[in-house]
Amino acid sequence: MPADRCCDRLWTVMVLVMQTDAPLWDSLVLDGIDSVDVETVTAAFGTVEVVAKGRAASSACPDCGSSSARVHDRYQRRLKDPPLAEQGLVIRLTVRRFICGAVDGPRRTFAEPFSRLAAPHARFTRRLRRAPSGGT
Ligand SMILES: [Zn+2]
Repeated sequence: MPADRCCDRLWTVMVLVMQTDAPLWDSLVLDGIDSVDVETVTAAFGTVEVVAKGRAASSACPDCGSSSARVHDRYQRRLKDPPLAEQGLVIRLTVRRFICGAVDGPRRTFAEPFSRLAAPHARFTRRLRRAPSGGT
């Protein structure tokens, strides 16, 4: 019956909504990946959205290597992840832009890297690119 399938799907979404405690999603979505903290998780219309941000207090400049904890601004990256329990999975990552401390450095600001989670400027996580259903 189509109605049963509909209820199954609704049930799955409800379960996902109930399981929105951050530590669970931290291990489920970001296990062993960089220093990323899950802030909130929402589920709607077949898509689970995980809001996350970097945990590190400072980051190293890719040009001069000096560490900076001075945040210039923040922006959001939206990363598609492989589906989980038939739900689409999207990571909304808050990326901090740090001010480089080096006076004579060529670069004044640099974005916090999440190299193990996704390639720079990518719209997909590395996992999704590796997923067999996605082809080669
Ligand atoms: Zn620098």
